[in-house]
Order: sequence, then C-alpha cells, then structure tokens
Amino acid sequence: MTTIPVNSLQRHIQPLAARLADASKRVIDSGHFVLGPHVQRFEQAFADYCGATHAIGVGNGTDALELCLRALDVGTGDRVAVVANAAMYGTTAVLACGGVPVFVDIDPATHTMCPQALDTVLRAGPVKAVIVTHLYGRLAAMDALLPLCRSRGIPVVEDCAQAHGAQDPDGTRAGAFGDIASFSFYPTKNLGALGDGGAVVTSNPALAERTRQLRQYGWSAKYTNTLAGGRNTRLDELQAALLLEMLPELDGWNARRRAIANRYSAGIRTPALALPPPCGPEHVAHLYVVRSEARDAARARLAELQVQTDVHYPTPDYRQPSLQGKADASPLPQTEAAARSVMTLPCFPELTDAEVDAVISACNRL
Ligand SMILES: *Cc1c(COP(=O)(O)O)cnc(C)c1O
Repeated sequence: MTTIPVNSLQRHIQPLAARLADASKRVIDSGHFVLGPHVQRFEQAFADYCGATHAIGVGNGTDALELCLRALDVGTGDRVAVVANAAMYGTTAVLACGGVPVFVDIDPATHTMCPQALDTVLRAGPVKAVIVTHLYGRLAAMDALLPLCRSRGIPVVEDCAQAHGAQDPDGTRAGAFGDIASFSFYPTKNLGALGDGGAVVTSNPALAERTRQLRQYGWSAKYTNTLAGGRNTRLDELQAALLLEMLPELDGWNARRRAIANRYSAGIRTPALALPPPCGPEHVAHLYVVRSEARDAARARLAELQVQTDVHYPTPDYRQPSLQGKADASPLPQTEAAARSVMTLPCFPELTDAEVDAVISACNRL
C-alpha cells in the first residue's frame, strides 16, 4: 500500500493534459504572450462566474491582495484589520503597502474572522480596510462581518484564494460580498494554473480601473505613469488559456471535494480528533482541517498508517520572525489554540472512495 497524499497535482492535471497541451500550442502559435485575448476572455469568464462585473488578471494571489489594498488607497501607516491564521498572505500585502496589520481573532469552529473580535478592533482605533479570508474554502460570516464595516464606511477586501465558487444560500459567491476581492490560481488552489496567477474581482468600476492601472506600472496609457504605487504584476496568456480550459471543471471539482469532506465528517469517530462543521455550498473544501490536542503523535501514527497530513498553518502571523517589532504581537487566544492543534487530512477531487475510507479507518485507530 502506498501513502495517501494530502494532494496530488499529477493526478489532478493528468485527465486534462491533452486539452491543456492543445491550449498551450494555440498560445505559442499566436505570438501573443502577456495581457492578450486569452487574458481578456478569462477575465470576463471569471467575473461572470463570481457574479461580479470585473476581473483583473494579475501575477499571483498575494499581488492581487496588495492591489486590492492599493486600489483602496491603503498607504503608509494605515491600519488594516486581518486574521493571523492565514499564513501571512494578507499581512504581507498590508506591509507591502506600508500599512500596519491589526490582528483579529478567529471563530474556533470555522477558523474564519470572529465578528465580535472585529467589532472590538474597530472600536479601538481607526481602520482603513478589513481583509476577510475565506479560509480552507469556507465563506466567513459575511452576514455579521459586513454590517460592522459598512456602518463605519470601512471597505472590505475578501481573500478568496481558497474559496473559488463558495456561495451563500442566496447564491452569492466568494468575491461578490465585499468591495473588492483577491483570488490566487497557484497550482494547488481549487482553480489552479500551471504556474503562478491571480485575479482581483470587483463590481466597482472605479476600483476596477485603478486596479488595471496598478497592475501595469500605474499606466493610464502606454508610458504615462498616472497612479503612484503601480506595479508590474500581469497574468500571462498561457496561464489564462489553461485557466479557461479548467474553469468549466471547477464546480464538479468543488462538489467532489465537498463530498469527500462530508464523508470524512460522517465517518471519523474518535475522541482524538475534533471535526469541522458539516458543509454545504458555502464551503468548497479546499482543505479538510481537523484539530488534535496531541498533533505530533497523531501525525506520526497516521504516517505509520500510510496517511500523509500537513499543518495549515503552524505559526500565527504575529509570531513570524520578520514581524517582530513591526506589529502588535499580543497573542490571540483562538488563533493560538488553532495553530497548536490544526491538522490537514488528504482532500482533493481525485481521491478515490477507497482512499477516503482508508483515511477514515486510520483516523478511527487514533
Ligand atoms: C495561496 C493563498 C494566497 C496567496 O496566493 P499566491 O498566489 O500564492 O500569492 C493568499 N491567501 C490565501 C488564503 C491563500 O491560500
């Protein structure tokens, strides 16, 4: 028996390999490689998918987050509220703009931003923007978080890098709740390119126009640098062509991920693990994350039983070495507890039912 991996991009891409090769060849033959017709078509298709009017293709998800903040005019010294349990992505973008991350604790059941904790932060001092991360594929509590921001006129950035296609009961999808949203198409994401890629999504025409300028040197026209803070972060034609092939598969992949997650939640019965809440359309099961109070031992035992695990994520942002002295490092209790105990089980669309059952049996032997 071979070890069941946390993820396998080889198994994911293999069934599409011929189609992707054809799409690559079309781009190679076209002689157009950056910001061309494939990028335009993908931007329109992805905006439509999200239920927004604009998508702007960029180099990666972290740049997408940074451009969201720059479009909202976040600059030197501006405080931005962000969670500390999402691997530094939001925090990196805040720091890149010269802003100051203000960390907000999470809800222990969903691992997304706790509305009560956000309320406390917003009462404590001025905040220029709030980054809400739909972590592990689950929509954050937007119905509670949005009014807290809207009533104070604070814009909301959604980090949707793990949540392509997650939707609330009204059918509103990740990226269509806040003022502006970021996506990553890093290969392991629910919609992943064969390299780096990202997008900014918004239905605000002014923010869309600013983002289009910011992704290309701040140009309003060729060689006219109008906006300060411009970057070079563009989606290329090759990745856009591959993403256009994959976008129609996304809903099917998400449904399979969700089915795997719910199979785990129904089958794993051991006091050694705390399971995430069951999931419907609001969750696209990017990662299936459980809690173990004896994580190292649990991981070692599962490895013996041929199940690979991972930890998303081990270190709260405010404990990262690069941040010492640069941000408020007061520990957040729920973020601390999560960092000590979270453990990721294999969850990707190509896992077989037999593999899922093998993971369940292994967990039930802990
Ligand atoms: C992957 C990820 C990002 C960053 O995307 P990159 O394309 O790797 O820069 C941002 N936020 C979250 C939640 C992510 O999972």
